[in-house]
Amino acid sequence: MDLRFPEVLPDLLPIYYKRLFPFGPFCRWLSYGNLKENYFKHREFSLTLADDVYLRFRSYANQDELAAEVQKRGPYKIDIGAVYSFRPKDHRTVQVFQPLERELVFDIDMTDYDEVRTCCSGADVCTKCWRFMTVACKVLDTALREDFGFEHLLWVFSGRRGVHCWVCDEAARKLDTSARAALAEYLQLVSGGVNQTKKVTLPGDKLHHSIKRAKGFIEQQFVTLVEEQDILGSPAALASVLALVTDAELRQELEKEAQRYSSSRERWDAIVRYIHTQQERGQLKRRQQFIVEEIMLQYSYPRLDINVTKGLNHLLKAPFCIHPKTGKVCMPFNPRSAEKFNPMTVPTIRLITSEVDAPNQTSMMQLIASQLNFTSFSEFESQRSSMSERVSTHRENLENREKSGRFKKHNVYKRDVVI
Ligand SMILES: [Zn+2]
Repeated sequence: MDLRFPEVLPDLLPIYYKRLFPFGPFCRWLSYGNLKENYFKHREFSLTLADDVYLRFRSYANQDELAAEVQKRGPYKIDIGAVYSFRPKDHRTVQVFQPLERELVFDIDMTDYDEVRTCCSGADVCTKCWRFMTVACKVLDTALREDFGFEHLLWVFSGRRGVHCWVCDEAARKLDTSARAALAEYLQLVSGGVNQTKKVTLPGDKLHHSIKRAKGFIEQQFVTLVEEQDILGSPAALASVLALVTDAELRQELEKEAQRYSSSRERWDAIVRYIHTQQERGQLKRRQQFIVEEIMLQYSYPRLDINVTKGLNHLLKAPFCIHPKTGKVCMPFNPRSAEKFNPMTVPTIRLITSEVDAPNQTSMMQLIASQLNFTSFSEFESQRSSMSERVSTHRENLENREKSGRFKKHNVYKRDVVI
């Protein structure tokens, strides 16, 4: 972190907004091909100025108007809200002012992992704890695509300690609050506050397919997480894991097994080995049958702030903002290669504004292109001409799925999952 932040921001933000902020792609994304004339015009933006002055319910006719105000005011933060029934800037003068649509959004904050990570705490993030985020991205990205049929997902590093996911499909933007709540609850597995020890319980005899799939992603990373975070190294850490075993007899046996070793990795292997042996002998009690999965999921399944997802008019920080505490760009990344994304090396406003006149500048657009060499943002842009076709194809897909019963099974309205 640059120690002179945020003092230098008032000097650098005007350069950033004037020379680097990608207003073109940004506004084209939020216009969705201009299929609906007022879609962009009725969108709420909120600007946070110095000294925590909030300007809510701002709205703009077009890219030029947005750019002009942002360049004039140099906001520390830009938030994106819903698309309303009227222009947000007129909200005091109209009778029925209500949010109609917005992207379905997810917010995963590293501070929610403080009880399971040991490398950092609070606002700090390093490459070790970023591994929790890579697991979260893969699990959530796949669930949204496979269980709900969404295709247009934009993943963004928040600039400090979290990630956001914007689901931009038309079907997602049209979800009402109750559908958003149902969807968020379907995806939420780790629940309960700091006083609740066991946060994941898997009832029934079979794992739901979405949990089986999540387990597959988690298994690829879990041993590394166990080692990097020293999940079983200290007596207190071992006790925290064993506290998730509700059967006292099994807990004692597992403790005995784990105590024979000293490293986290050896202890985890011993615990898994013991449970599997008991399982094979048919000696594991029924409600302990998923204990290995419950431990893994509690430590690494995505921890969602579901209130952000539930609200139709919740504000979320816009991609390409500068995080006012770190100076880092709020940068999109590819969820499929999230493990290659390094939050520590995300460019800061100081770096990119210092290079703005250099002959070999790392221009913002190059940076964006390097991160967006997959789909999402560039894909939204290229959608402009073929948007109608895509929308109708997607609708057809959804209808076909509903007819075939596949979607119905995982439909947020008719949820039959056992979580
Ligand atoms: Zn860390």
